[in-house]
Amino acid sequence: MRFNGKQVVIWGGNSGIGLAAAVEFRKEGARVLIIGRNADTLASAVRQVGPDTVGIRADISDLDALESVYGQVRQALGRIDVLFVNSGIGGSIPFREMTTKAWDEMFNVNLRGPYFAVQRALPLMQRGSSIVLTSSIGHFRGLPGNSHYAAAKAGIRSLARNIGVELVGEGIRVNCLSPGPIDTPLLGRSGMEALREPVRELNPMKRWGDPAEAARAALFLASQDASFITGVDLVVDGGMCSF
Ligand code: NAP
Repeated sequence: MRFNGKQVVIWGGNSGIGLAAAVEFRKEGARVLIIGRNADTLASAVRQVGPDTVGIRADISDLDALESVYGQVRQALGRIDVLFVNSGIGGSIPFREMTTKAWDEMFNVNLRGPYFAVQRALPLMQRGSSIVLTSSIGHFRGLPGNSHYAAAKAGIRSLARNIGVELVGEGIRVNCLSPGPIDTPLLGRSGMEALREPVRELNPMKRWGDPAEAARAALFLASQDASFITGVDLVVDGGMCSF
């Protein structure tokens, strides 16, 4: 029960890794507030995570809405002990075919939104709290069609280092989680189902990871077990980038 009495906010908590994390945080005693765009999956995630769970419908790329979102967080939780900024979109577009529209959408959701979602949460965070940002192994492994996604995720990894060094004196730890292939709805939503089998074959463990396996790494970084850890990138990829 590492999170007894803790208030946890998860951007992208209504699906995949974020939902698995919400369930795990709740199991370990936390009060969980999840944020996502889809009203249906948000409602079912709130039910699945359990009593006391709060859901807020919001788009992380809509910076004008952040004040209202954190107003609702303040009202529901009073403070944030753990901020897990995990929301994200995928998508494969060859470099030659990239458009500014697709680039902007990717960066607004996967980098600009998370940047300001952390900044605007800070008034609710105190000494001893922690932030986990979800990046991807895409930030250090080249993959065709992945340039915009990988660049945004490289930004997230860099953000964890740079926000981390600014907040360390305030007693707030900031770390990064870089999942490899994790079996979530993301693949289907991004039109990348064809990658399922080749990626499984490429992975040293010959499988995709379970969302709970990535979620438990996020819980570790957020917990007191990681009390002397800030600015790191924890890779959860079945050995894909190491071997
Ligand atoms: P997922 O099941 O598709 O979940 C993505 C989550 O992000 C959903 O809760 C979604 O909510 C939310 N989200 C997306 N756009 C949003 C927006 N504009 N505003 C607010 N919330 C938004 O995918 P996942 O695999 O769990 O992904 C979680 C994170 O892991 C992402 O950052 C992803 O890039 C990263 N990641 C995943 C893998 C993998 O193999 N699965 C690998 C590396 C990194 P709605 O459904 O309501 O939009």
